[in-house]
Amino acid sequence: MDNRVSGQIENLDDAFIHDQFFFHEHDVTEFIHVSGELDAVLHLASLASPVFYREHPIKTLKVGALGTHKTLGLAKEKDATYLFTSTSEVYGDPEVNPQPEDYRGNVDPYGPRSCYDESKRYGESLVRAYREEHGLDVRIARIFNTYGPRMRIDDGRVIPNFVRQALTGQDLTVYGDGDQTRSFCYVSDMIEGLLALLHSDVQTPVNIGNPDERTINELAALVINSTGSDSDITHEPLPPQDPQVRCPDISKARSDLGWEPTVSLGDGLEASIEYFREHCDLRL
Ligand code: UDP
Repeated sequence: MDNRVSGQIENLDDAFIHDQFFFHEHDVTEFIHVSGELDAVLHLASLASPVFYREHPIKTLKVGALGTHKTLGLAKEKDATYLFTSTSEVYGDPEVNPQPEDYRGNVDPYGPRSCYDESKRYGESLVRAYREEHGLDVRIARIFNTYGPRMRIDDGRVIPNFVRQALTGQDLTVYGDGDQTRSFCYVSDMIEGLLALLHSDVQTPVNIGNPDERTINELAALVINSTGSDSDITHEPLPPQDPQVRCPDISKARSDLGWEPTVSLGDGLEASIEYFREHCDLRL
């Protein structure tokens, strides 16, 4: 189910060939009717790029709040297991690094990123309420920065931006001094982590991400190197309240799910660069 506000239908080409696959074009903030039985409901819908959610703050708030309510209602109706994809952004601009699940975060409720952070925090609270009041079987993944093939080249997040710039010989736009850190998880690792969580019995939030923490300057150098580009780096202003550090503590995922990421940043970037080179129109 997708309303395609940012999703691309071509990404489902490999799924449509299965006769047990059905796609519903629907906005999850509206009442959802599904006939038949369901084993699980996984709510992954959201704008996740800061560029997109700054453009659509109301849609972002609605999908995290109303969309979570509607999908929880569906899971309750079908007596299905419910998985909510929350975010590392619930930790805001963290004062502890790496972030364990019991860190309560440093979020500005009226800040420029609050439409995303606060809707996901509200979503977590709603999931807990459905577990307590209705006994729903729930899971919560806190997803850290994820990348890979099938991202939009115009997504606005750092990896598609840098790869497009490197492949077209433009300067890579590093925001701020580039000393801020992120930890990038390859998409196949993320999917395995989410499935391990779904199949576990862990009803409390679990960080899913790759703890390989890098500065944005390091990432820029790596992209230039992996593409063989002769692009330079240029600095642009840091967006307001851009978190200074971010790295998951994945001890809980390791011990309770038996999961950890296996794809290195180098290998993941190589596969992503190949995808962007072959499948995307790099002229923006
Ligand atoms: N960033 C950058 N250049 C870009 C896009 C992003 O330097 O062209 C920085 C951004 O300021 C942040 C980091 O890269 O510090 C990751 O940003 P992204 O938008 O990918 O996601 P975020 O982790 O902020 O949600």
